[in-house]
Amino acid sequence: NKELAFQNKEKDKRADELIIANKEKDKRADELVIANHKLFLQNQENEHLLKKLKRAASVFTSANESIIITDANGIIVEVNEAFSRITGYAAQDVLGKNPRFLQSDRQSPEFYTEMWDRLLAKGTWRGEIWSRRKSGEIYAEMMAVSIVKNATGVLQHSISLGTDITELKNYQSQLEQIAHFDILTNLPNRVLLADRLSQAMVHCQRNNLKLAVAFMDLDGFKEVNDKYGHNVGDELLIALSQRMKAGLRDGDTLARIGGDEFIAVMVDLEKIEDSAPLLERLLTAVATPIEFDDAVLKVSASIGVSIYPQDGSDADQLIRHADQAMYVAKQEGKDRYRLFDNALANAVKAQLQNIDDIRSGMDKCEFLLHYQPKVNMHTGEVIGVEALIRWQHAVRGLVPPLEFLPVIEGRAISLKLGEWVIDNALTQIKQWQSMGLSMPISVNISAYQLQQDNFKTRLAGLLSAHPEVNPSHLELEILETSALENISKVSVTMHACKEFGVSFALDDFGTGYSSLTYLKHLPVRLIKIDQSFVYGMLEDNDDLAIVKGVVGLAKAFQRDVIAEGVESIAHGVALLKIGCELAQGYAIARPMHADDIPGWFANWQIDDSWQA
Ligand code: C2E
Ligand code: CA
Ligand code: CA
Repeated sequence: NKELAFQNKEKDKRADELIIANKEKDKRADELVIANHKLFLQNQENEHLLKKLKRAASVFTSANESIIITDANGIIVEVNEAFSRITGYAAQDVLGKNPRFLQSDRQSPEFYTEMWDRLLAKGTWRGEIWSRRKSGEIYAEMMAVSIVKNATGVLQHSISLGTDITELKNYQSQLEQIAHFDILTNLPNRVLLADRLSQAMVHCQRNNLKLAVAFMDLDGFKEVNDKYGHNVGDELLIALSQRMKAGLRDGDTLARIGGDEFIAVMVDLEKIEDSAPLLERLLTAVATPIEFDDAVLKVSASIGVSIYPQDGSDADQLIRHADQAMYVAKQEGKDRYRLFDNALANAVKAQLQNIDDIRSGMDKCEFLLHYQPKVNMHTGEVIGVEALIRWQHAVRGLVPPLEFLPVIEGRAISLKLGEWVIDNALTQIKQWQSMGLSMPISVNISAYQLQQDNFKTRLAGLLSAHPEVNPSHLELEILETSALENISKVSVTMHACKEFGVSFALDDFGTGYSSLTYLKHLPVRLIKIDQSFVYGMLEDNDDLAIVKGVVGLAKAFQRDVIAEGVESIAHGVALLKIGCELAQGYAIARPMHADDIPGWFANWQIDDSWQA
């Protein structure tokens, strides 16, 4: 019995153990069921998400963005119509594939690695990317990629939206091309040149080398243009630029900066003399005749050279000095080059007159004013004359102003001469008046003179010495606006002078960097389009654009506008066409002696083609 009882107990115990084990099993089974259920839910969530994404994608089927949805393994599960349109791949071509086949070799492997690093870290990536169409063609895309993770943070999908920006990119590079290259010759323009020159200067400084800036102006180009027409002129420019470029080395830059003006930057020179063979090659390149159809065209170049670092510390200065040296090359007979140092020495020699000379000239009353008419080409009205100073020198003959004014610039004697000009002009107005000719005169005023503290008082004094003259007959043309240091002070002075009845013009408009600022802040009635733009406007689209721009600007600011340097009837026609009626220049009249003005006035008539 005892034995049996024991066995039963054992049985019970095992039964208990079994029950416990079963319970454990049940529990595990339960857990499994729960886990399964969770998994089920997750999948459902997944399905749900995918559906949502697909729905979102279908919203865009008609949109321009291409859409690619991939699963957790990076395999494409959905694309939209725009995708097919942009890439050329049909949906069935790509479903189940990794989108890697779209990659182009314009993008480095690191690019894609970085993109994925960022995607995994931040969940999104945006940027421009070059991809490849089915046709093999490379295209630019603006892309936004996001990844979708489930509740537990596991990557489920990625979705990318792409916009084809190839056209935009092309347009952008076209704009860049226009902004940096000359349209006719495809050479770099002034903007790109400035950039390249600055870089080259840094490079030369670092390597202790020199560079040369050669400013080239063609001799006789205008004649070719006049004789054979602009098309031939253009062809010549293209041919010459190719030849000149061939004469330079790889790292050098050749730029076209204006009608027939070029600049070459020659880099990495050990000594100045190293530039000589290059300069000779440029001269030969230009001077060798070119045949076009039946014509043999022959021009030459005058080249001015400045050297970095000795002739200038910034790009502007180097170009300016090369330009000055170019003038000397022209003066000395063209078809040659001159170094800036040389130029300076010669210029000093040429301007042998010193300040004392000028002073004694004033004592001897050797200065006089010539007058150049200003007219309305449309109505034929003569609106006034500009007074231009001359020096009747005993030995040198009639000396033009730019040969002596720079010598006294900024000195007290220039103020004295400036006042003499105003005084003389006022006397002239009165004299013409007494002959029955009412003729306003404009007088050039240097920035230095205008900025004198007593300018207003001195002008008042001069006006009151000529009480018969109506001050509205006097106009002051402000020169070298770039030298105006304190615009608000100058503006106050000008307003005060306006009170007297005197009016103002901005001379050489468009040449200074801040022309617009001056126009906005200074009380000027008239702006004078600088002659450099007017000369070029028939041949050079940039010049034409500037002239048009200035005319438009004047209209917008309700100022009058006059073109100076109108050398031909054709210039006048072109100006009238863009709405500029006022003009001054050789086509109308050269500056002349005061005595010749009444006769000219009586006989002058506008050209028929201007009336039309
Ligand atoms: P600006 O004020 O721009 O004067 C116009 C210059 O262009 C004058 O040269 C004039 O003779 C010239 N010109 C006029 N029409 C034409 C044309 O159709 N083609 C060409 N190629 N040139 C033309 P100019 O008389 O030698 O005077 C040169 C500069 O000297 C003036 O330029 C002005 O800045 C300065 N200037 C002249 N007289 C005075 C003055 O009395 N005082 C001051 N401060 N400066 C003066
Ligand atoms: Ca002037
Ligand atoms: Ca001028």
